[in-house]
Amino acid sequence: MNCPRCQSRLETRSTGGVEIDECRSCQGIWFDADELRRVKDGSDKDLNWMDFDLWKHADRFRVNTNPVNCPNCSNAMVTIDYDQTGVEIDHCTHCRGVWLDAGELEKILDSLSRELVSKDTQGYMKASLEEAKELFTGSEGFISEWRDLATVLRMLQYRLLSDNPKLASALAEIQSKSQF
Ligand SMILES: [Zn+2]
Ligand SMILES: [Zn+2]
Repeated sequence: MNCPRCQSRLETRSTGGVEIDECRSCQGIWFDADELRRVKDGSDKDLNWMDFDLWKHADRFRVNTNPVNCPNCSNAMVTIDYDQTGVEIDHCTHCRGVWLDAGELEKILDSLSRELVSKDTQGYMKASLEEAKELFTGSEGFISEWRDLATVLRMLQYRLLSDNPKLASALAEIQSKSQF
């Protein structure tokens, strides 16, 4: 599998109990749908922290076509963004994988942190986000050993890809347009 941005070969590795494919050149990360599903279906003692409203205004999502092809199935991906967060996620509506450019996961963490400030959320989650941000902004600038990557992926899967009817219909619409 090659990087959708720079075509370098993606390298598979496990971190935080999650298998990811990463590009050593541009530092993007690919999560395939099975991995996301596995993360979501795992027995989950910390699900309750996700009760806060992240990205709750469904009408603020924008879905755009994207000339970049999925590294897994080669179909064109779509870009999902949500205003204010600065987060842009490349999503394949065919195989349901997710591509994050370098820095996107950090923006997601920032966005999460801002939500957590105003909510009564478990302290360990805040600590975990701080730990994650240190890893991202450290000299390596990339995920090395982060236990709670799985937690952020659950957030992605639950809050963004699964439980968002408006986003789901926007995705279906753009998929049907791109198929003729
Ligand atoms: Zn790359
Ligand atoms: Zn795909």
